[in-house]
Amino acid sequence: MNYKQALQHPIFKTISQASKNLNLDSYVIGGFVRDFILNRGDAKDIDIVAVGSGIDLAKAVAKLLPNQPKVQVFKTYGTAMLRYNDIEVEFVGARKESYNEDSRNPIVENGTLEDDQNRRDFTINALALSLSETDFGYLLDPFNGIQDLDNKIIRTPLNPDITYSDDPLRMMRAIRFATQLDFVIEEESLNAISRNNERIKIITKERIVVELNKILESPIPSKGLLLLEKTGLLKHFLPELTNLKGIDEVEGQTHKDNFYHTLEVVDNIAKNTDNLWLRWAALLHDIGKAPTKRFSKKVGWTFHGHEFEGSKMVYHLFKRLKMPLNDKMKFVQKLVFMSSRPIVLAQDIVTDSAVRRLVFDAGDYVDDLMTLCEADITTKNPKRFEKYHNNFKIVRDKIIEVEEKDHVRNFQPPVSGEEIMKTFNLKPSKEIGIIKEAIKEAILDGIIPNEHEAAYNLMLKKGEALGLTKS
Ligand code: ATP
Repeated sequence: MNYKQALQHPIFKTISQASKNLNLDSYVIGGFVRDFILNRGDAKDIDIVAVGSGIDLAKAVAKLLPNQPKVQVFKTYGTAMLRYNDIEVEFVGARKESYNEDSRNPIVENGTLEDDQNRRDFTINALALSLSETDFGYLLDPFNGIQDLDNKIIRTPLNPDITYSDDPLRMMRAIRFATQLDFVIEEESLNAISRNNERIKIITKERIVVELNKILESPIPSKGLLLLEKTGLLKHFLPELTNLKGIDEVEGQTHKDNFYHTLEVVDNIAKNTDNLWLRWAALLHDIGKAPTKRFSKKVGWTFHGHEFEGSKMVYHLFKRLKMPLNDKMKFVQKLVFMSSRPIVLAQDIVTDSAVRRLVFDAGDYVDDLMTLCEADITTKNPKRFEKYHNNFKIVRDKIIEVEEKDHVRNFQPPVSGEEIMKTFNLKPSKEIGIIKEAIKEAILDGIIPNEHEAAYNLMLKKGEALGLTKS
């Protein structure tokens, strides 16, 4: 088969020319070829294998390009990279890899194209297109990767037990590709992942999280999360989630399985947002339920304070997985902490003041919080489902209405502490706090509007009640 049409970008002719000048063969390999055949849009990452020195080839290519881009060389890996307009081209010399039991790092030797294809993780990632002038665009597919693409199958080129044990990250990658591409992992391969799941422990957290994020960014993340659970991988890096599994029964009373519920919530939210951190919030919104689960005869199963517990767990989880401990983490924490607030509203009659308090507490996160809570509606009772969604619509409308009127989203007190001190001739003291709090409460309750005059009058009244005199 010839796939010349995949190689229309001028960079490929340049690589072909440079290879000829160096008297070596080169190939486009991996994700670029796979994604072209799957019609997954224009790939921006191109991987080139040279049967010879990848670094020399990269340098020769850069010289031929009009803007002569800089070549970044990674000596330890024998690779080189250059950017040409908006694409990134990575060059590597064809290599043969052999692993031994005790080391994560393979022994690497120069090899042929076939050697290099053998070290690839999946048949669909081992496809190579020749860049030689004589057979430009010719496909080399030693493991029937094209057939696996057609049949939507993830399969390792060699024995899966060896492939996964050699580099356990490949287990995550298998599940990630199955989720992203909606493929099935071939049965032997899936069994091999289960058998080798312990090996994931030798992989750095950062690399695991890269794959986890890609799973979460997929259209139906539960597909991957279920596979991670089923193969026993998930418990190694997200035990908070696997701890949610199961239904307890005491005296005939049960609670829902919060693991499967969580997966439903993640799939729901994936339909409404591409924001990775909002998807993380959905994934973690119930993690506090495992440690707070209690049973009492009177009320049955409860998870009191699970939101607070969960938000604390978010910090430890992010830290353990070496994820950023920045505003993204705080965002996830806050959403987990507030995740039950709108639900309470949706069950009841929605009052202005309840909505005002929600906006005040959630600040700029209020819209994302609503998106999370809507995704959290997983009741199978159609009447309740409709009722909750309708109530959330009312809440969303009210949020806009209340915000237009009262501007409590990023609340600034209409009367400052300084003004209070000046009015009553006070030094910093607890009375100022009492008055400020009273004004804030009155605004949130809708007793006074969020305006200076009304707040000023309330301040005078409160001051009088506290026995203060106006100066
Ligand atoms: P994506 O861009 O979606 O991550 P990709 O397949 O291009 O997909 P890369 O991580 O850029 O992923 O890897 C490029 C190629 O390198 C792969 O297609 C595969 O052939 C090979 N590869 C990457 N990681 C591994 C691995 N852990 N084991 C074996 N081969 C790998």
